[in-house]
Amino acid sequence: MTDDAASSRGLIEPLLIRSGARYHCFGDGLCCTDVHAIGALEDDEVERLKVLQPEVVGYSDLIEANILRMRTDGTCPFLGDAGCIIHEPMDGLLKPHPCWRFPFGLTATPDGGRVTTEHRCPCRTMGERPPIEADGAVDELRERDGRIRPNHRVGDEVPFRRDETIPFADYLAIEGPMLRALLEDGASPESVLAREPFPDLIEGTWGAIAGGMQVVKTDSRFDAALVLLANAIQARDGGPMEVGERPWRENFDRAEARVPEPEDPEAMIRDWVADSIWCLYWTAFGSFEQLRSELATRVWILRRIAQALEATGTRPDVAVAEGLMVVDLVGTSEWWEGVTARLSEG
Ligand code: SF4
Repeated sequence: MTDDAASSRGLIEPLLIRSGARYHCFGDGLCCTDVHAIGALEDDEVERLKVLQPEVVGYSDLIEANILRMRTDGTCPFLGDAGCIIHEPMDGLLKPHPCWRFPFGLTATPDGGRVTTEHRCPCRTMGERPPIEADGAVDELRERDGRIRPNHRVGDEVPFRRDETIPFADYLAIEGPMLRALLEDGASPESVLAREPFPDLIEGTWGAIAGGMQVVKTDSRFDAALVLLANAIQARDGGPMEVGERPWRENFDRAEARVPEPEDPEAMIRDWVADSIWCLYWTAFGSFEQLRSELATRVWILRRIAQALEATGTRPDVAVAEGLMVVDLVGTSEWWEGVTARLSEG
């Protein structure tokens, strides 16, 4: 492949680390529960896992792929008292690849591979975490066959509006000041995004979207996250908000216990917004203009969820970490992709 052809599909190297990104696995355990689907499993993984436990693989209609089937209490069947019991044996050959990579991801861009991280686990949002370095990220991203594969690609053009793309270099000139404002100047996400939450929809209403989310049944903790987010949307005009079920509570209690001094909730939000821009995943289902509005909407929802949790006695930083889990998780689901596609661009 020529250099031009490679850059039009995005490059994996060099690995690019977002300024200020930090992570350490403290074993809070949230990622080993049905808060999200562990999949899509590859065929060889399915074969190996079925040898270990014939019932452990199931098919998810939601993501249309094989996934790890969780215990009835929502925890992974391989989660033991001291963590993952298939982490060590056979050099981890039995451990599904989504578990190896989480919370890391990789977006190929014309400048190199952007290392990305998900913020749905308190291990990413709370506590003394070392900076993410390229050397360590390589180990997290390298698959068993030794290759590093991106989970998203961005080429020479970036969708700016629904019917307009701009060169990647021009996009960088817009993105750079936004990231610096968030990460160096401590600017509020609202001022950096500079868009109103809950913009007009091309089709449907916000109330109907929330109503649809409240009746979903996937028999997993994802349902509870979806309902919590929907309850916040229903409170968008200033009404009361119901908190409802929080089946991940013990994971956040564990995080609170290991972080005795409350942290800065605003820094957590800025960090998440920066990664939501940096990952460029949004280019798969919308434009940059839509990203600004949808992120402004999710920031509003996050703050409303955190406010409701604080009202139940949750520590402010833990409330924001829990709200981040919800907006990060639902925000990368096909539910939210459908919402983003319907956002007007103002
Ligand atoms: S296989 Fe191991 S790492 Fe993956 S979800 Fe289960 S316990 Fe967690």
